[in-house]
Amino acid sequence: MTDSPDDPDRDWFGTGEPTEASGIVGEYVALRREAEADVLAMQMGDFYEFFGEDAELVGEELDLKVSQRSSGGESYAMAGVPVDDLAPYLKALVERGYRVAVADQHEVDDGHERRVDRVVTPGTLLDPTDDDAQYLATLVRGERGSEPTVGLAFLDVTTGRFHATAVSGPDAESRTLTECYRFAPTEILPGPEARNDDALLDRLRERSEARLTLHDAEAFAPGHAKHTLREQFGDAAAESVGLDSEPAVRAAGAALAYVAETGAGALASVSRLRAYTPDDHVALDATTQRNLELTEPMTGNGRSLFDVLDHTETSAGGRLLKEWLGRPQRDRAELERRQGAVAALAADAMARDALREALDGTYDLERLASRAASGSAGPDALLRVRETLAVLPELVEVVESSPRLADSPVADLFVDLDREGVRGVHEELAVALTDDPPKSLTAGGLIRPEYDEELAELVERHDEAAEWLDSLADREKREHGLTHVSVGRNKTDGYYIQVGKSESDQVPDHYEAIKTLKNSERFVTEELEEREREIMRLEEQRGDLEADVFRDLRAWVGDRADLLQAVGRAFAELDTLCALAEHAVRNDWTRPELTDEDVLDLDAARHPVVEQSVEFVPNDLRLDRDRRFLLVTGPNMSGKSTYMRQAALVTLLAQVGSFVPAREARVGLVDGVYTRVGALDELAQGRSTFMVEMQELSNILHNATEDSLVILDEVGRGTATYDGISIAWAATEWLSSAQATAPSPKVLFATHYHELTMLADHIDTVENVHVAADEQDGDVTFLRTVRDGAADRSYGIHVAELAGVPNPVVERSREVLQRLRDEEAIDVRGSEDEVTGESKQVVFDLGSGQLRGQASADGGEGETVDPVTESVLEELRGVDVEDTSPVELLSQVQEWQRRLEE
Ligand code: ADP
Repeated sequence: MTDSPDDPDRDWFGTGEPTEASGIVGEYVALRREAEADVLAMQMGDFYEFFGEDAELVGEELDLKVSQRSSGGESYAMAGVPVDDLAPYLKALVERGYRVAVADQHEVDDGHERRVDRVVTPGTLLDPTDDDAQYLATLVRGERGSEPTVGLAFLDVTTGRFHATAVSGPDAESRTLTECYRFAPTEILPGPEARNDDALLDRLRERSEARLTLHDAEAFAPGHAKHTLREQFGDAAAESVGLDSEPAVRAAGAALAYVAETGAGALASVSRLRAYTPDDHVALDATTQRNLELTEPMTGNGRSLFDVLDHTETSAGGRLLKEWLGRPQRDRAELERRQGAVAALAADAMARDALREALDGTYDLERLASRAASGSAGPDALLRVRETLAVLPELVEVVESSPRLADSPVADLFVDLDREGVRGVHEELAVALTDDPPKSLTAGGLIRPEYDEELAELVERHDEAAEWLDSLADREKREHGLTHVSVGRNKTDGYYIQVGKSESDQVPDHYEAIKTLKNSERFVTEELEEREREIMRLEEQRGDLEADVFRDLRAWVGDRADLLQAVGRAFAELDTLCALAEHAVRNDWTRPELTDEDVLDLDAARHPVVEQSVEFVPNDLRLDRDRRFLLVTGPNMSGKSTYMRQAALVTLLAQVGSFVPAREARVGLVDGVYTRVGALDELAQGRSTFMVEMQELSNILHNATEDSLVILDEVGRGTATYDGISIAWAATEWLSSAQATAPSPKVLFATHYHELTMLADHIDTVENVHVAADEQDGDVTFLRTVRDGAADRSYGIHVAELAGVPNPVVERSREVLQRLRDEEAIDVRGSEDEVTGESKQVVFDLGSGQLRGQASADGGEGETVDPVTESVLEELRGVDVEDTSPVELLSQVQEWQRRLEE
């Protein structure tokens, strides 16, 4: 995470002292400070220049050549790019996390002046390189009653998507982080209160890649924010979308204000604000989203669920699939709608192929709409809008002619679209734009002449002039009896008549020689020059007029950004549904039955990612009211984690509306999935793993409800055995309702504490399952099959035996194991006392969970308890605390201390 502008008085010229720079550099420093930019590009004639540290930074980041200049005895670095080449450099800097200001040069009466007209930041870049959503996040701390509340807004200027919400309660902060993780913003603006909360800022820095910008507090003020919202959406905006929490309104207003301030015109495409409640979605805290590798793999070479499922044809489809995976739903009707669409698409392979092929020829309409609205779309962009809109009728045709699709929710995707409107936009673009337009707006050839009367006239006159030129050579030949004549044009000579050397002295008098070449001579005539001027004039007029027409056309399209975004969303959704259907068919997935009942019943289920790379052994799983807590045991690497994750992933896939990897599945909708698994990445971040483990456990114990699914992959492993086992034990009791304060969630708990398996005998809802392993001909085979009952507990020793560890050692380990289990103590062999024959013992220390040496019961050398201590202990045991006054106790303790010291 990058932080906001650093010290404005930083040492620009390497002199060690802040300097009052003068002239150009002084202007640079002042503009840069005013714009609160990390980097400033300042126009000087045909170049944008960077000075001082900025020059060094762009030199390093962008490989620009940096030179040293000196002025007034000071030396400074300088780098520049030609004015027309700035865009890619700007983008590259912003995508690396910098806030970049651009100061343009403007002509004024007495020369020119420069001012910062735009600031581009990671959250407000209009045409990012990658396809992911690019959210700007704002967060505002407040209170609702006495509850801490955080207002959150997420705005993607590239597509106009804008969401706002408020999270409240004691865990408002962790829910804030969860939402931030979901939207993965590229830039975060904490409000004035949050800005002083170092702990929160630290967590944001730790958990997010986003740039943290400390923006003007004014934008977050309630009145200001409300005003901004009203300006953008009209009077009742906040109320009408149900945004009733002040912090949320402040967050939303500030996001808009920030984008407006960057001056990129990006606000034009933001036509609506969606208020949402995180509770509409399955609760997935940031840790769980990461653990389950929904959209990002944990390791560089791993694959996320998204990677496996992404058969989308378009970038907008991929973006939506990612969004769905990060935000599984709880609304059964919506999920069944998606399922219905996936089922229909899965059943009609021909139609699906046709749809996917047609989608392949479309572009990202949501983004194109934003660019049209902001006035940054070029000819290419509008052509793409045209090509993409042309696909709508094709898609509709495919859907309508497939009985399966016509009668499915797929058809509904197009029902609400204003098809007439779409046809209108397409037609306008079709009659206006030529098929192969030049890049530059003024080069000519961008707009079809028929589209504009004035243009048609200009073009006609131009054509006439051109025709006159075309026929000029022939005319000259005829009239003046010449044979080797041609007419040409170049930059230095303009139009000329070229006559071969042999005839160059026969040209008429009104020919004026302008250049002699080896085999020919060039001439001009007054008439030719006159025509040339006319053509130039016409070309210029045509270029200007076409650019004007184009800008009008673009604004007209931009006014319809709403419609284009709706079409873009429908295409994206169709693409996503096709991808899910495609995957279901290719991998033999099944449509899960969704129910409100409290059950997860999977028949021959697989792990959606692991099944892609290994011969997967399917497994069953059943959780319900009476069997809610499964203790999963089995040797390392047998498949415990995979089994548990597969339960979570199948549930989430069902709540995305997807088919699932199983022969049959019944999925009771959950309100949240919570996980606690070995946290390698936390280790890398230098946080104590055990602390993290306990924080995660605490989060689960607080938040999981009876409708949640909980996955625990080892609990308590990060501390001493007895600590660990005690915590695991108590957590099991708590989560299985043995200590019922609330109905319990459904839980899968893998543990290496075999002792826990006995809980199944005592708590009705707890059951043991184990992943089976087998030994054949001396080889251990992991069967990957999950069976009822606990795993064979001496499995490790069995493996040692198979590995050829000498027999006496194996035998002895069995004995040690047995005694540890029975008595929590082992005698140390070879330590027998010569006289008594008794051996030393090692016991488990309950406090530390460590083995500790101890003399055998009636005394080895020097370890007996002396009589004084013995008597003190005796008295101590005898004290009745309830019946003794504090003063009495105090004096007794003093007395014992005295005796012990003696
Ligand atoms: P554990 O949690 O018991 O240590 P894992 O769940 O990490 O074991 O599984 C170890 C490896 O075994 C996985 O990487 C996977 O490749 C393989 N595996 C797990 N379950 C299955 C299965 N049902 N079928 C095939 N391979 C499996």
